[in-house]
Amino acid sequence: MPKVALATLGCKVNQYETQFLRECLIQAGFREVSFKEKADFYIINTCSVTERADHKSEELIKAAKKNGSNAHLIVTGCYAEAGKDNLRKRFPQIDLVLGNKEKLKIPRIITGPNENHEDTKSFIQTFHAHSRAFVKIEDGCDQFCSYCRVPYVRGAKIKSRAPDEVLKEVESLILNGFKEIVLVGVNLALYGRDLDPSISLVDLLRGMQCFEETTRVRLSSLEPHLLPSGLIDLMGSCSLICAHLHLPLQSGDPEILQRMGRKYSPDQYRRLVENIKRTVPSVAITTDVMVGFPGETQRQFLNTYHFVREIEFSRLHIFRFSPRIETRAYSMQPRVEEKVKKERSNYLRELGKDLAQNFASCFLGESLRVLVEETVDSKTGWFSGYTDNYIRASFKGENELKNKLVMARLLSANQGEVLGEVEKVFSC
Ligand code: SF4
Repeated sequence: MPKVALATLGCKVNQYETQFLRECLIQAGFREVSFKEKADFYIINTCSVTERADHKSEELIKAAKKNGSNAHLIVTGCYAEAGKDNLRKRFPQIDLVLGNKEKLKIPRIITGPNENHEDTKSFIQTFHAHSRAFVKIEDGCDQFCSYCRVPYVRGAKIKSRAPDEVLKEVESLILNGFKEIVLVGVNLALYGRDLDPSISLVDLLRGMQCFEETTRVRLSSLEPHLLPSGLIDLMGSCSLICAHLHLPLQSGDPEILQRMGRKYSPDQYRRLVENIKRTVPSVAITTDVMVGFPGETQRQFLNTYHFVREIEFSRLHIFRFSPRIETRAYSMQPRVEEKVKKERSNYLRELGKDLAQNFASCFLGESLRVLVEETVDSKTGWFSGYTDNYIRASFKGENELKNKLVMARLLSANQGEVLGEVEKVFSC
């Protein structure tokens, strides 16, 4: 039995694609081993969203070579897509560099013609080492924000999966015990625009309402200006969809947003959030903020800081601007010093902690649905999981709680996380 080791960096779309490769290879007779063990094949699914991601991709390439000196080394993903020739030149030990478009052909390339690989397989059935399963429904982004490499490495053409195929995949994951499905895409809000007849994310979600009794669905990042119409009303009226939206803000300064090529103003973003909170009062709005975009002044950074505080996000993901070749922002001047970027991200990180604590405190005394994902301490029987509105909750219980949906009463909050007690276990 040939042995394969898989490593993944980056987004949930990449993680989904690795799972797809994993299942194809296992069906074709491979045995998966950890990346630290000796394998016959090492497959690295890279990321290139920042310079740091490029660096991590290279570290994995070096580690793979050390672990299995005679093994075959295959590098794929966004870093491979962005610099095939450069990678081949710098790491002659790589046997194959394949971009995103060729990624799913890897099983066929290494096993030869086989009825079990991607030619016949169109969906995944489980999700390795996760209690939530990611389901990729869309690929590609045509927005070309000035700092973002994604349209170049993932393609600017929107490619959506047929709704029947998505529903079949979701059903199979539910049958295999998954209670939370996370819908993911490169630009999820554009789902269905390219299908004939075109549909929207809302249509797809309506088709999933039959799973409402047993499952919950979380949406990954959605571009605020592209939010599909009807989504918020659907979210407010059915328990299938988690009350959680990740809406990347990037900046709270109108001029910076414009130079980033983001197609909304802070005012429009504010109105959108007000509307969402009116319809779904328990909603968690999480976001990405980028600090140190070229030319960002202290005043513009403070505009972002105050805006973030005003919106009361429940969680922040803070990035420092990283110049990506081919993008418009690559040549924008003046670059902000690393030291300043670090200071700005630290400020926001502190604010993020306060906001998370404030948000969690709002729900003390309430009972919320939680998917029990992790055993915190098996001896004392402590478990944890996330509420629909993405608050991490811990409570005592029996082992059987693992992977169950429960109702938990939230009792106290500390640093944005809560302690609670289980009131009811859903029977499904
Ligand atoms: S919408 Fe998102 S993925 Fe698309 S270019 Fe902008 S930041 Fe990148």
